[in-house]
Amino acid sequence: MWNGWRKRCPNCGKGALLNGYLKVSDQCTQCGQDLHHHRADDGPAYLTILIVGHLMAPLLHIVFVAFRPHPLVLAGVFCVGCLALSLYLLPRLKGVIVAIQWSRRMHGFGGLHDGA
Ligand SMILES: [Zn+2]
Repeated sequence: MWNGWRKRCPNCGKGALLNGYLKVSDQCTQCGQDLHHHRADDGPAYLTILIVGHLMAPLLHIVFVAFRPHPLVLAGVFCVGCLALSLYLLPRLKGVIVAIQWSRRMHGFGGLHDGA
């Protein structure tokens, strides 16, 4: 999971897991581990919303109660904050999900039966 968080191959920890922002490489460039078996689907987006929501909702409450900023300032800061945090988390959580699937030999990782 740590390798996934760092967007590295779950097998060797050296090769790049993602090629582009979210596209998972078909194979690890370092060790040749097949990576196209992953089925992350909406998992990373779900986790991102879960984490960002649970961080931002209490934070919004605290900032509002403590500082009473102008509504436009508050909305602006939190829009940018949510967006930045989501874009930061999304590829890392995708790496984590692919790494979990790899470690559990899910979806054809492990090579017993290829394909879906
Ligand atoms: Zn590798």
